[in-house]
Amino acid sequence: MVTGNINALYPASGAPRMAVMPSTSTAAENTLASLRRAEPTLWANPDRLAALPASLDAGGQGISLDDTKTAAARFARWAPVLCELFPELQQAGGMIESPLLPAEALRPALGLPAGAGALWIKADHSLPVAGSIKARGGLHEVLEFAERVALEHGLLAGGGDAGPDAQAWRVLATPRARELFGRYTVAVGSTGNLGLSIGVAASALGFKAVVHMSADAKAWKKERLRQRGVQVVEHAGDYERAVAAGRAEAEADPFCHFVDDERSLSLLLGYSAAALHLQRQLQAAGIAVDAEHPLFVYLPCGVGGAPAGIAFGLRQLLGPHVHCFFAEPVQSPCFLVQMLAGEGAHPSVYDHGLTNATEADGLAVPRASLLAAGLMRPVLSGCFTVQDATLFRQLVQVLDATGERIEPSAAAGFSGPALLAGSPAGRQWLEATGLAGRLGGATHLVWTTGGLFVPPAEYERFVQRGRALLAAELAA
Ligand SMILES: *Cc1c(COP(=O)(O)O)cnc(C)c1O
Repeated sequence: MVTGNINALYPASGAPRMAVMPSTSTAAENTLASLRRAEPTLWANPDRLAALPASLDAGGQGISLDDTKTAAARFARWAPVLCELFPELQQAGGMIESPLLPAEALRPALGLPAGAGALWIKADHSLPVAGSIKARGGLHEVLEFAERVALEHGLLAGGGDAGPDAQAWRVLATPRARELFGRYTVAVGSTGNLGLSIGVAASALGFKAVVHMSADAKAWKKERLRQRGVQVVEHAGDYERAVAAGRAEAEADPFCHFVDDERSLSLLLGYSAAALHLQRQLQAAGIAVDAEHPLFVYLPCGVGGAPAGIAFGLRQLLGPHVHCFFAEPVQSPCFLVQMLAGEGAHPSVYDHGLTNATEADGLAVPRASLLAAGLMRPVLSGCFTVQDATLFRQLVQVLDATGERIEPSAAAGFSGPALLAGSPAGRQWLEATGLAGRLGGATHLVWTTGGLFVPPAEYERFVQRGRALLAAELAA
């Protein structure tokens, strides 16, 4: 069992350097002190359970692997419709999925020692339709809502989930369906990527779509939505304010469905469906997951819904030898702050003197989802934080080693492997969990979460910034 929290300090690159904290009752305070100084910090979850019950509490409701399978079945029966709505999906038969990529070429740059396991990327930065991991959750919730409306109005026969008949679903891409959906609005509050996903999916089906954007949302994301006829409402405040404004407006309108990023089970389960596909990819790649072959998964975390959904699915599907770590910017570690606060409290990063200012706009969230945090209590192995400068350097290192183009948010997981395998704090955790001797057979899987639609000029600025940081480091 993991008995304490570990603070981590690591320099710009190379082998991380850590201040290892003793496993005492003050460990949480030490972690908080490190977070408040905006230092990169590694925290191990003392409440993780190796054996999970089949059903876990998600905001007062039990969820199990069956719910993940239901979400996957929904994507499958919509596949022919999605092919019609989004021609870019034709090659993949209407499935919204991303490749599993070997990333050995990235080892030296990340400082992952030899004999410390294999390195792979789960390439959700290339997910079609939305260009980010939000394609999973966002589309799922829009599809579920569309089914409900269609069933209510007799456009689809049968009740509830109405069977797996993909043929019957084709009616949902017809003018009749569009006319029906056009009476409804789908609204969402977002830092950008969730808005892109919901806005694009909802408007493609014929819904009116309204996206409440926070001040840190990038201009190109707003522009892309407006081009698709989505109404973009700009807010001066942060992500939390944009969500609250959207929620309030939607509550007053019975024909408006609000996608609630902080509370939605449909979003979370849509994300969780990724686990089923990844399981097949791991098998196809010959990657075992068992006691001798642990799988470490590093997931960028904003409000927590996406990484929690995926971690839930992976743990339920693949068992105790999967270790999920969430990665957050040093100024926006809302999930870690929530895990330290425990039940009953709902602190924000501002409460700890942090700014929530980060170029990782997908992760710029001041307060975590309680649904996600509660669900992760027995599931998660830990969290760590990353400086923006590290994100930009690693964005370039990923480009140079693999050719993949990711946005800053999507780089957050890349500190994970070296942090675990190469730092004193990580080693301490590996020893405490009995994993130290198994590292040679391990797989490190870094989940990249966005980037496909970043305009070339914007991406070029990211690269220039990353190269300048790398050059400065070499000169130092
Ligand atoms: C939204 C987002 C995440 C994290 O998802 P949450 O559900 O907010 O935790 C990670 N990366 C990118 C690029 C995102 O847009």
